[in-house]
Amino acid sequence: MISLKSPREIEILRHANVIVAEILQELKQKTAAGVKTSDLDELAEELTYKKNARPAFKGYTMGGRVFPRSLCTSVNEEIVHGIPSSRTLRTGDIVGLDFGVIYEGYYGDAAITVGVGKVSEEAERLMRVTEQALYRGIDQLHEGKRLGDLSSAIQTTVENAGFSVVRVFVGHGIGKKLHEEPPVPNYGEPDRGIRLREGMVLAIEPMVTEGGHEVELKEDGWTAVTKDRRLAAHFEHSVAITKDGPYILSLL
Ligand code: MG
Repeated sequence: MISLKSPREIEILRHANVIVAEILQELKQKTAAGVKTSDLDELAEELTYKKNARPAFKGYTMGGRVFPRSLCTSVNEEIVHGIPSSRTLRTGDIVGLDFGVIYEGYYGDAAITVGVGKVSEEAERLMRVTEQALYRGIDQLHEGKRLGDLSSAIQTTVENAGFSVVRVFVGHGIGKKLHEEPPVPNYGEPDRGIRLREGMVLAIEPMVTEGGHEVELKEDGWTAVTKDRRLAAHFEHSVAITKDGPYILSLL
């Protein structure tokens, strides 16, 4: 069942998502060659508690496995759910930073991909197109439109640029739970799927690859990588549908 949020709930969700956005901004500034992905995780956690929130991903379980960190850091061919470690970032890497918090019982969830120093033109274009696809999708979030309009807008943007959309991971509703109904695929047909309604809050998160869209899971049971080991990028916003259209909760 899809839960519709009241304006009061949307304001709490806004607060939770602003915390996420502010922390992502700080992490972006700290991202540089020589920094360990675990340094970013520790900073994210520290800032979260300072803002009276709790990290949402630490301890999250999927298929009996427990995610051990607060932040997901996915480098280069890693698509999502990378586990922060002693890995040191190098110039030319791109790193996906996916972060979530719980604030007053409500979840915030957003992601960005950041270049480490100077990155290749193709990596730059991949990140740009992924973010653009996210916003093209968000543009569709008006009452009366259908979920497929969003999915199709994202897919078209990505494929017109010569990139691929990951299928096995999708966006989601968000609220009192991190992952709520409905699933929000980044591929699909316009004018299909559920009707969008005021009060729906969706985490939209295109995962885009330079090559094919096939995914493999690393031995840690979490980190998803591209099967062809080419680059992947990921951007995410949590967005409420209001009578005036999309309200991007995780935008500062
Ligand atoms: Mg998400």
